[in-house]
Amino acid sequence: MCLFCKIVNKELPSNIVAENDDFLAFHDINPHAPVHILAIPKKHTESFHTADADTLKGISEFAKEIAVKMGMDQAGYRIITNIGDDGGQEVKHLHLHILGGGKLRFGHFTDADAANKF
Ligand code: AMP
Ligand code: ZN
Repeated sequence: MCLFCKIVNKELPSNIVAENDDFLAFHDINPHAPVHILAIPKKHTESFHTADADTLKGISEFAKEIAVKMGMDQAGYRIITNIGDDGGQEVKHLHLHILGGGKLRFGHFTDADAANKF
């Protein structure tokens, strides 16, 4: 069973922010912003790329609820989802990073030369 399935099953502890029948949100253990929350579907799917449309719709609505709950909807926030190895996905269970609570820098691009590739 994957790490986040264990968190869903409460076999591993997490600092829960919100939960409903289908989704769970908890604080990232290694925050990269004043607010850094992970939103996940309870049903395992590997990534954004493997998720069905209902899951993507549901997690999007759920993430917006988290942003409101954390008071970030007016000031703004960022959603990131890493996909696969090149995308930097370490935990292979779909999760949205919900980041905010302050002005965010932009980054997270490749170290390789991106010029003239496309
Ligand atoms: P990613 O690199 O997109 O797969 O992101 C995985 C995220 O999960 C990282 O930001 C980690 O800090 C976070 N993480 C790993 N283990 C835990 C845990 N037990 N509880 C909360 N967050 C975790
Ligand atoms: Zn899982």
